[in-house]
Amino acid sequence: METGQDVEGEPATSATSAMFDYAPAPESRSIVDIASSYGLFVNGEFVDPTGGKSFKTINPATEEVLAEVSEASEEDVDRAVKSARVAYTRVWSKMSGRERSKYLYRIARILQERSRELAVLESLDNGKPIRESRDVDVPLVAAYFFYYAGWADKLEYAGFGTGTPQPLGVAAQVIPWNFPLLMLSWKIAPALAAGNTVVLKPAETTSLTALLFAEICQQADLPPGVVNIVTGAGATGRTLVSHGDVDKVAFTGSTDVGRQIAKSVAGTSKKVTLELGGKAANIVFDDAPIDQAVEGVVNGIFFNQGHVCCAGSRLLVQESLADDFLARLKRRMATLRVGDPLDKNTDIGAINSSEQLAKIRELSGVGEAEGAGRWAPPCDLPDKGFWFPPTIFTGVTAAHRIAREEIFGPVLSVISFRTPAEAVEKANNTPFGLSAGVWTDKGSRILWMANQLRAGVVWANTFNKFDPTSPFGGYKESGYGREGGRHGLEAYVR
Ligand code: NAD
Repeated sequence: METGQDVEGEPATSATSAMFDYAPAPESRSIVDIASSYGLFVNGEFVDPTGGKSFKTINPATEEVLAEVSEASEEDVDRAVKSARVAYTRVWSKMSGRERSKYLYRIARILQERSRELAVLESLDNGKPIRESRDVDVPLVAAYFFYYAGWADKLEYAGFGTGTPQPLGVAAQVIPWNFPLLMLSWKIAPALAAGNTVVLKPAETTSLTALLFAEICQQADLPPGVVNIVTGAGATGRTLVSHGDVDKVAFTGSTDVGRQIAKSVAGTSKKVTLELGGKAANIVFDDAPIDQAVEGVVNGIFFNQGHVCCAGSRLLVQESLADDFLARLKRRMATLRVGDPLDKNTDIGAINSSEQLAKIRELSGVGEAEGAGRWAPPCDLPDKGFWFPPTIFTGVTAAHRIAREEIFGPVLSVISFRTPAEAVEKANNTPFGLSAGVWTDKGSRILWMANQLRAGVVWANTFNKFDPTSPFGGYKESGYGREGGRHGLEAYVR
């Protein structure tokens, strides 16, 4: 039931076609100059990998090969860590906060100047709609750099005890593919502001914007070795985080890999932050502003194809409202446009990889096999590339795998509840604890719910709102440590 067939007796006509037909409005890709191959960024220069190995990065919307990316070997990782160490000892840790902040401001301004190029490249390599990369990802990336630039000369006022907090040294940073550039900014900006140098490994399917960021570091005249970018897959990441000369490990990715990393650094003096998976509840009470809540639920699970760690992947809707809410949600879902990520009218782009698509298909199949009701609006999916229609499952209980496991795709599990206490119990009945959403007219209920919910972030009458001043992070299997805000700095100082 993946390609828009109707289930549960809904009319089979697409509301999209009943409403408007939008002419294609593709963003031009000519602004981006993609090289046929990329080296590693070490000590301020692009260098060839010692082993000479590389892999292809593709456009998930078309399966077209975009470029060859280098696979960093153990020797390359060692070279990058050494370069970061030298830059830390000789330059960056000696520089005043005021001087460091000038570099960060410069980077932030170049990010803004080159924002269109970055947005197009992000959409090409990741598959996310240009509307999101242009209006959400890239502006936030610049905002995180501006925000942490402001802290670099004010660390002694950040409330971390008396005196100026000291940097840790070299940070090993590993990030996922869902928000490639944004996750890079969450890692690099606070690390540099606090006086650390970094070696960052982007995800293997989305290296290109990190490599463009390396160019931006050159353009900003950042001293060589302060930022190093090594590309590669899991083995490169493992080598990096277990390197003997890194002082700090910052990882964002799956809970499984997070566990392996926690084990590999146990017994060392490395400081660690882990930002892992989630299975957030988006809780709608019957006194909520309903249409606003429908928008929030749609944004909560279909933004970025649902490839969002804090996605509202479990809709908890009050029983008295459930039928009305579901009808409105389906009507709204039928207007979502799935297709070309570079088209400015696209709401849902491509799934990032064939592996991720297989995982979404598998878990959706399990949902059906376990008896949940599956529904997706009719929508034409492109022939090439990796696609999955926005999908909901009704009649889901806590026993279903789709209610417990992170699907990381545009798939929503709908669960009902009767009382606030039952909503809290169901929302907290998960090994994760990253985020939650509450939709209600009552302020007192929002405060009560926020106190009861075991989630790092609780949004009220909104969802997926990010701000550099606000800490973000999880409880339980969603990891530990916080990124963003003053808390994000704390992870990079002693
Ligand atoms: P993943 O764990 O497979 O990969 C993440 C990164 O780790 C990649 O760069 C990968 O190459 C690298 N890696 C893989 N194995 C490694 C190992 N053994 N040692 C070191 N590095 C290794 O995750 P993914 O599929 O890329 O990303 C999706 C996951 O990320 C989801 O679970 C999502 O919830 C999570 N995520 C969390 C947050 C957050 O802030 N909590 C944000 C975004 C994504």
